[in-house]
Amino acid sequence: MTAQTPITLDTSKLNEALARFPRDRAMWIGGREVKGGGETIERRSPAHGVVVTRVPRGRAEDAGAAIAAARVAFDKGPWPHETASNRARVLLKVADLIDRDRETLALMDTLECGKPIAQARGEVEGTADIWRYAASLARELSGDSYANLGPDRLGFVLREPIGVVSIITPWNFPLLIVSQKLPFALAAGCTCVVKPSEMTSASTLHLGALLAEAGLPDGACNIVTGYGPDVGAPMTADPAVDMISFTGSTRVGRAAVAASAATLKKVSMELGGKNPQLIFPDADMDAALDAATFGAWFNAGECCNAGSRLLLHAEIAEAFVSELAERSKRVKVGDPLDPETRVGAIITADHLGKIEGHLRAAEQGGATVRTGGNRLDSSGLFMAPTIVDKVTTAMEIASAEVFGPVVVALTFETLDEAVALANATDYGLSASVWSRDLDTAIGVGRGVRAGTVWVNTFMDGTPELPFGGYRQSGIGRELGRNAVKDYTEEKTFHVHTGPRTSWWLPRGT
Ligand code: NDP
Repeated sequence: MTAQTPITLDTSKLNEALARFPRDRAMWIGGREVKGGGETIERRSPAHGVVVTRVPRGRAEDAGAAIAAARVAFDKGPWPHETASNRARVLLKVADLIDRDRETLALMDTLECGKPIAQARGEVEGTADIWRYAASLARELSGDSYANLGPDRLGFVLREPIGVVSIITPWNFPLLIVSQKLPFALAAGCTCVVKPSEMTSASTLHLGALLAEAGLPDGACNIVTGYGPDVGAPMTADPAVDMISFTGSTRVGRAAVAASAATLKKVSMELGGKNPQLIFPDADMDAALDAATFGAWFNAGECCNAGSRLLLHAEIAEAFVSELAERSKRVKVGDPLDPETRVGAIITADHLGKIEGHLRAAEQGGATVRTGGNRLDSSGLFMAPTIVDKVTTAMEIASAEVFGPVVVALTFETLDEAVALANATDYGLSASVWSRDLDTAIGVGRGVRAGTVWVNTFMDGTPELPFGGYRQSGIGRELGRNAVKDYTEEKTFHVHTGPRTSWWLPRGT
């Protein structure tokens, strides 16, 4: 059983946090705050059980109004026609405003998601950096030219903004994920409609206010709150939308792609993962254990990139699992407002029930819970970090995304077996390889079908490096030097100079 200490919540910290921002929020449509039809969605802090925000329950007509506003802002301008320098200036101003409001933004995500405040502060800092990176790319966006087509032909290729982009985001990293999309779409000159998860809309709505303050023209970014079927679905099907940029589950991602098919929209999909951490006997074990602890319990495992599958060489498997269990018991789970906390609350009671369902099924199939597996208080949504051992590939838990503080351990003996195990899921988001041997690290990394491979590190990231998944983890890449290009179309100009050679008249006539 776990050695985690009982959880205590400091109500004075909660009251201070709640005083930082108003609980009632409005949508942003056409540059104005819009309350919608009057129905609201209440969000309770999963850690504290109190209402922290109320957002309008947007309907299809609100999504339609937002799409129409984005369409007008695109077709009539001025945003798509702004100079890159002016667009970059707005994005840089947004980054400064994110810095200014960092504590409010961090508290919003902490209270709505249940994530630790220290982590949320780090996410806000990273977010401002992404907006600055997008600003730098705005000024670098360019097309191509061909002067090598002969003396009477000249070719050039323009990069133009693709148009209206629907941006749909999940609840686990509200501010960070919208910022992996929105600044790049805006940098390209697109206009956007954004739908955050109905559980975690506050920081995205606050971002709307910062965009207005930074001088983004009305209608260039519209934010609609509400449920997926009411608001998200029209955003994936409306003929006035040119592109969908979605982060969420593979199940909903598939539905979004299907809905977009009738009008053949461009799609960018960041979906689920079941990411392997492959540990070889020659690895720096202390570093690998530290990274495994971080990779498994960061954001309570509610993370597409979670290192949720430990693939251990048989020689070190038992020692690794027992030491990881010891370390995991010492990780501080508790009040997300306590700066020492490393693991906060699970997003909802329903989601916690699903996590427990995966665990029960695994145990019935013969797996062993080595540590954790239990809730840490009677009323809140805190779960002990949980290691599941004796897992085989036949078990559902070996390949399904649990999206909670649960890591499974499987063993291998040969390098080929390690690669085959790593690839034994439908996902392919990320992987890490731990070995001091270059042949092992690079050989295994090249064999793994995943969008990111870390060598002797885990979940490191920077806006310069592209991020996205193979297979059912997604379509396309975010971040990286092509992040703005993704939101453009290419237009080919083919220019003829000099006299025309006729197709039908004989030469010389
Ligand atoms: P969901 O797929 O349930 O929801 C994602 C978003 O889609 C939400 O805003 C949701 O609204 C909306 N939505 C729901 N139904 C529809 C629909 N029919 N049409 C359009 N939009 C719809 O994901 P979660 O919010 O539960 O987030 C967890 C998932 O996100 C995990 O599977 C995780 O792996 C993935 N994820 C992937 C990342 C990546 O970059 N690869 C990063 C982070 C998370 P509503 O909330 O109202 O249902």
